[in-house]
Amino acid sequence: MTAKINSEDYALALANRSAALYHLKEYDACIQDIHHALENKYPTELSYKLYEREVKCLKHIGNISQAKLKFKEFLSHLSLAFVSKEKKKDLEMKMKRFLKESNLNETNNKQDKLNVIKLFGGPNKNIPALSKFVKMKYSESMGRCLVVSSDINPGEVLAIEKPYAGVLRCESYGYNCQNCFKRCLSGIPCLKCTLVIYCDESCRKKSYDSGHKYECLIFSTFRSWPGMDHMEHLSLYIFLKSICKLGFDEYIATVCALNTDTTDPMMRGFNNNGKYLSDQFCSVYTLEGNESKRTVSDLFLRHCYAAVMVSIMTLAGLQIPNHQLGTVGESLVHIICVVSSNAHGITQLLNCETQLKKNLAVDKRFIPVASFLMPVLSLLNHHCDPNVVRHNYNGTVVLTAIQPISKDSQLFDNYGLLYATHPKESRLQRLKNQYCFCCECSTCKDNWPLYDVLADQPRSECKIFTDISSDLLQKSSMKLYEIINKIKSKECDGLQYIQFLYSHLKLLHDNIKRPWGEYCDCQETIKEILYSTANKFIIEDY
Ligand SMILES: [Zn+2]
Ligand SMILES: [Zn+2]
Ligand SMILES: [Zn+2]
Repeated sequence: MTAKINSEDYALALANRSAALYHLKEYDACIQDIHHALENKYPTELSYKLYEREVKCLKHIGNISQAKLKFKEFLSHLSLAFVSKEKKKDLEMKMKRFLKESNLNETNNKQDKLNVIKLFGGPNKNIPALSKFVKMKYSESMGRCLVVSSDINPGEVLAIEKPYAGVLRCESYGYNCQNCFKRCLSGIPCLKCTLVIYCDESCRKKSYDSGHKYECLIFSTFRSWPGMDHMEHLSLYIFLKSICKLGFDEYIATVCALNTDTTDPMMRGFNNNGKYLSDQFCSVYTLEGNESKRTVSDLFLRHCYAAVMVSIMTLAGLQIPNHQLGTVGESLVHIICVVSSNAHGITQLLNCETQLKKNLAVDKRFIPVASFLMPVLSLLNHHCDPNVVRHNYNGTVVLTAIQPISKDSQLFDNYGLLYATHPKESRLQRLKNQYCFCCECSTCKDNWPLYDVLADQPRSECKIFTDISSDLLQKSSMKLYEIINKIKSKECDGLQYIQFLYSHLKLLHDNIKRPWGEYCDCQETIKEILYSTANKFIIEDY
């Protein structure tokens, strides 16, 4: 995709990729490449080949009426081809026969019913990314946090958020859209640089208007600068996006106002209409950067990053008036600190085949897609045994309860360090280094063991603290492991059992003493199913 746009080379590259996609049975992506190739100086005498391929794709997808229409276009382009009359007749006959053949052998995954993901109880009036049963609270020790106003069962969706800004991780350049982060097999490049791709024209335009027009100029210099990683890239992109969104003068005015703002800490980041929105700069800029808790060397490094960013932008021709360089630099340092304390890593399954692992060791099948800054999900505090889990659905992040949560309890996310997978000492150290706090969660206090230890505990050691019959529990447990085996042997993706798994988790939660290995197995199975079936869900728009 490095050929010049609107050149014959570019069209040929797209056409060749469409051939590969056809063989991979990625028919929608194939058709998209065919259309782009035809719009981009594909040689007229060869275009019958692309129409032929499009007719075949449409037939495979089951869109017969469209296939018949395209067949007519195929015939008219075949007449322009430099091939003999006999060959033309032969091609025409073959296509007619192909159209008549039945489509029975075709498996079409898209016929799977899509499940709609909805916020539990609908959206919160003032923070629409949250369920109406989740509210923001403030305490001196915890800062801002999220609390539920009702009892919550596992599986309830408590937040749905699109990031304020996100940048792709290097593993996903060329595979995921730079604007919406969807995996795109028939991506089109930026019109100016060849570093990023988009799923379509509309994403290309949105990305350009919302920051890539500046990013495009400095991207390659920035990436090659020592020490600049995806976190610094995200910080710079937040700045560029905000400049595009607000305009330079408005950006400076907003930053100055927020720097001296003495509003009640609970209301910081809310706009004049009393709403806290994921797509507004004030929600981002008022997130915690923990500057006062950072060491001098940490802050020095972040100031260096900001200085390099300002220099690269100035060299690339971005006009920053001299008297405002200080304000820009200061705001960049704060954004860099905010990103370091709040960014979320987004991963995706490399392929959709599930192979549930026996233990919880880091799973290599998950590849990093992007780093996001999400003002609402950033309000969650950390726990080494979180009660919610985040999943990425094509660039939208959904927060689901992964434990029963009782009314007035706080929601806890995990900052990548679970009690079951990371030894206590190293996880406390890492939390302190990156997020500037000492974890005092219940699992740290009670010194819960790693999963490896829990997995070896015999069933006789399971402590039931209610009078529930152990037969009932055992029956439900047997069903859990039957499901795990079915997923392991690839008999199914497990989605049909998800409601049972949620109720089994509640059963364990209400009756047995934790930590208990089976509880981890049940949670991990749910997480695995949600990951591997993300393509079977659509998200309700609020
Ligand atoms: Zn896109
Ligand atoms: Zn570009
Ligand atoms: Zn902890």
